[in-house]
Amino acid sequence: MRALRAPVALTVLATTAALAMGACSAQTTGGGAGSPIVTSFYPIQFATQQVVGGTAEVTVLTRPGAEPHDLELAPQDIGGMTKARLVVYADGFQPAVDEAVGLVDGAKVLDVAGAARLVPASPSEGESADEHDDHAGHSHGADDPHFWLDPSRYAAVAEAISARLSKDDPSKASTYARNTAAFVEKLSQLDDEMRVGLAQCRTTQLVTSHGAFGYLAARYGLHQQGVTGISPEAEPSATALKAVSDLVSSAGVTTIYQETLVEPQFARTVAGSTGAKVATLDPIEGITSATQGSDYFEVMRSNLVTLREGQGCS
Ligand SMILES: [Zn+2]
Repeated sequence: MRALRAPVALTVLATTAALAMGACSAQTTGGGAGSPIVTSFYPIQFATQQVVGGTAEVTVLTRPGAEPHDLELAPQDIGGMTKARLVVYADGFQPAVDEAVGLVDGAKVLDVAGAARLVPASPSEGESADEHDDHAGHSHGADDPHFWLDPSRYAAVAEAISARLSKDDPSKASTYARNTAAFVEKLSQLDDEMRVGLAQCRTTQLVTSHGAFGYLAARYGLHQQGVTGISPEAEPSATALKAVSDLVSSAGVTTIYQETLVEPQFARTVAGSTGAKVATLDPIEGITSATQGSDYFEVMRSNLVTLREGQGCS
């Protein structure tokens, strides 16, 4: 299954690319100030909306509730990207977007991965870094993409979006600067709440299913151990499951976290063999009616409540 995926995806992309290019050459308008800003997935959409504050339309390629790592783009998505005022994405997270960006005028693309200061994900228990790289049909590359779960990295991304939009349209620079300052201030308040809330905990070992919380853990003094590694669909080896189970037992971990949008089977396997409970953390890759909160801030605070309970924080 895995071996088949990449060639199939490439064929589809090549076809859609040809369609998009045809559409593009037939219709050379678009991309002006009235065109939408196209964003790749929810955290980038939300940050961009906060920066523009209603002065521009912001669309998103990843539908709410869809697992973003595996995104497939329809021809109209790619057509929309080629006509956008600006495409904002993070390179290395969604292979379909990375490839489609190659069809867009480079002057109308902003990659926020640099601003997010991404670092390589630490391998899961019982797994080497090499195995990690070649997980699953899609790849994150070597870097952990989940920057928005650390409010300080997220703030840096918002500032990069603001700087770019201001350069493209200096007449709105003061509006963007004001909106961005307000957003960054809210992120700073959240950061303070997280730091205080996670300062005194019974255990600092954070056992998660797909390992999206590395930046959050690093920021607040926790140590993440992902059961499946960073790609949500990767299947952990028996060795990896055993290593995580041993850690859970030896470190006095009482709660294992599964994630919304991801099949919780592996978290349950480890919980079942150790007696730990399973709780749900949201990696905030999309907002749906099932999400514990209506936006990034509400879901982060919901995650904080879950973490304080699960880690035994006072
Ligand atoms: Zn993820």
